[in-house]
Amino acid sequence: MLKIGCHLSSAKGFEAMGKSAVSIQANTFQFFTRNPRGSRAKAIKEEDVERFLALAAREGISPILAHAPYILNACAKDGHLRDLARDTMADDLRRMEYTPGNLYNFHPGCHVGQGMEAGVSYIAGMLNGILTPGQHTIMLLETMAGKGSEVGGRFEELREILDRVEQKEYVGVCLDTCHVWDAGYDIKDHLDEVIGEFDRVIGLDKLKAIHLNDSMNPLGSKKDRHARIGEGHIGYQALACVVCHPVFRELPFYLETPNELDGYAREIAMMRKAWEETD
Ligand code: FE
Ligand code: FE
Ligand code: ZN
Repeated sequence: MLKIGCHLSSAKGFEAMGKSAVSIQANTFQFFTRNPRGSRAKAIKEEDVERFLALAAREGISPILAHAPYILNACAKDGHLRDLARDTMADDLRRMEYTPGNLYNFHPGCHVGQGMEAGVSYIAGMLNGILTPGQHTIMLLETMAGKGSEVGGRFEELREILDRVEQKEYVGVCLDTCHVWDAGYDIKDHLDEVIGEFDRVIGLDKLKAIHLNDSMNPLGSKKDRHARIGEGHIGYQALACVVCHPVFRELPFYLETPNELDGYAREIAMMRKAWEETD
């Protein structure tokens, strides 16, 4: 069965997210570990997690994808900001152990004029500092649009980071369709070539999740503004081809489109239909 869900608010806890997912025929979901702009996390409620794990087992919800606050910058110029990113993500990884076997995605960072080499080196250094033998979470680098000094707009940059990580079994990549499009990878007219390039540069075995978004901007715009499925420059047909592509068949898909629950329900239904037709 197609694994698809969307970004959900974590304000009411895990069980509430599980119930929202079920209500829109999602069998996975993404959530922020804490306020995306701040860094304070609410305490994990063990009873809430227990109820969620039971519901997830019953409804076949897995894997879930936690998203780090996007304000964190592992390759900031200011050492305190780099420490904040490291400490916050380390804390998130510890919290993820309450829900073992899932994914934790983060934006690699912005090198803010220090250069790509410095950026890559800080990010890999952070990962080497926080990945812990025996942990039960895979940490994912997200492909970025390449806006400003973002690291991760090119597959080669992610490959550089992955190469320098010592605990390789705990890292992977999350491909965001809006971001790669905005970065200049033509998944609309040349999907197979882009997949081939991803495989050559990073390796498809490293791809663990897909963020499924249309883009408000044309190919290569480096903007990063998500559109609803079919309302952007990538379009419904091309995104359905991504979902139905044989090499992505086992991967979980997460919508991060500008929608409320009912809009997400429609997009999930649309993609399930396309997927079943190619089954
Ligand atoms: Fe993201
Ligand atoms: Fe994303
Ligand atoms: Zn984005």
